Amino acid sequence: MAASSTAVVELGFAEPPESPLIAENFPSKIGGRPAWLNPEHILLAEQVRCEVCCKPMILLVQLYTPEDYPPEAFHRTIYVFCCKNGSCHKISWRKSFKVFRSQLPKNNIYWPENESSLDSTTKKKSPAKQCIVCGLLGSKMCGKCNQVNYCSKEHQIEHWTSGQHKIHCNTISTTSITEEHNNHCRKLVLFPEFEIVTEQEGKDQEEEEDYGERDGDNNLSNSKALVPVGDEVYENTGVDVDKAFLKFQKRIEPYPEQIIRYNRIEYESENNPEPLWVSDIDKPTVQDINPCPHCGQERTLEFQILSTLLNYLEIDHLQQSSLDWGTLLIYSCKYNCHVENMYYINEILWRQNFSDDGLNWKRNLK
Ligand SMILES: [Zn+2]
Ligand SMILES: [Zn+2]
Ligand SMILES: [Zn+2]
Ligand SMILES: [Zn+2]
Repeated sequence: MAASSTAVVELGFAEPPESPLIAENFPSKIGGRPAWLNPEHILLAEQVRCEVCCKPMILLVQLYTPEDYPPEAFHRTIYVFCCKNGSCHKISWRKSFKVFRSQLPKNNIYWPENESSLDSTTKKKSPAKQCIVCGLLGSKMCGKCNQVNYCSKEHQIEHWTSGQHKIHCNTISTTSITEEHNNHCRKLVLFPEFEIVTEQEGKDQEEEEDYGERDGDNNLSNSKALVPVGDEVYENTGVDVDKAFLKFQKRIEPYPEQIIRYNRIEYESENNPEPLWVSDIDKPTVQDINPCPHCGQERTLEFQILSTLLNYLEIDHLQQSSLDWGTLLIYSCKYNCHVENMYYINEILWRQNFSDDGLNWKRNLK
């Protein structure tokens, strides 16, 4: 995904991965372990703890969003972490999400343009040891075998039990069985992994319009059928309308599977993008989206995550305390500032929920 100079929205869709979603492929993805843009400097559990339950959060989404400006952002990834425990979000959603921006210049020691441009001394930077469960920095080690790293006590315990490390510790197990148990453990802790593929909003409709002239009337009635939600329906019934929700429904209707709307615009652009609100309430104030503390510039909307993403997370929606949102808005420093020796810059997430009107409408559709 990349910033644009106009108000085009790039849509993201979840798909089973075609190739491994590993760092060298610069993936955009849901769930799994983070693919670190900077393999030497990776996040610690302490930086990603839920401020309600204090457990390490897990990766919700990462987007690879390279930019032309500044040169330090030639490679750029945004990481969104969240606590898996819905009750933490009920207590304070602000304390249950974290967003980080990580970037690298074109010439960097980890992803050189051509291998020969580096001499052999700089080439071998050792990647940081990762927690075998979640991929955060593995600053702790199993004290019995000194073979496995963990980010936290929590994941060490999880790996000991559901990862069967109690069997594999200090034994020579076949790697395939160990790996099978590791994957089982990760499956319990992490969100399932999907690739995020993109498409420009409105692109296939333009194509359709070209064809449309052939069966003109037909096409017109079809396009009307796609927009069953008219304000006048509500005006007649006197029901209080959530106008933002109706607008939202209309806009996403042509692409009901979209999980992400990518809005970021180039830094010179004057018109800051507006989110597609899912409701008239719960909008952030100017104070909520404070300026970047590093460069003082404003933060603008980069992308939004829709509630359709929840369908891919294998969470139990019937549970009272399951994870939920109307949309998640991610705001980032407009100027993409680079701070020397700071590998991760915190950015802002804002959660907007559906109004009761919107929720009732969605329920009726089911
Ligand atoms: Zn929590
Ligand atoms: Zn971990
Ligand atoms: Zn061990
Ligand atoms: Zn900044």
